[in-house]
Amino acid sequence: MPVDPITTLALRMLLSRRDALRAARAAVAARPPARGAGLPPRELEEVEAALERIAQGRFGGCERCGGAIGRQRLLAVPEARCCLACADARARDVNA
Ligand SMILES: [Zn+2]
Repeated sequence: MPVDPITTLALRMLLSRRDALRAARAAVAARPPARGAGLPPRELEEVEAALERIAQGRFGGCERCGGAIGRQRLLAVPEARCCLACADARARDVNA
């Protein structure tokens, strides 16, 4: 089990987000499809991937540079895969 308080907090946030996203997705699926009414499709997957990283003890490491993602960012975006510098760099790549 995670002992780092940030990981524990993130785990709690991710679990409640996952439950909310699953409930929202089920509600959307029960309705006839409406344009623009869907969820960001990858959000639930990102949350589940972050939960998997916690389970495997890999949570909090940047997937791009291998550095620490940082506590502030993890608390703001617990499902983040990259540190802020790498997220910025990737956004610039996408926009280039
Ligand atoms: Zn990084």
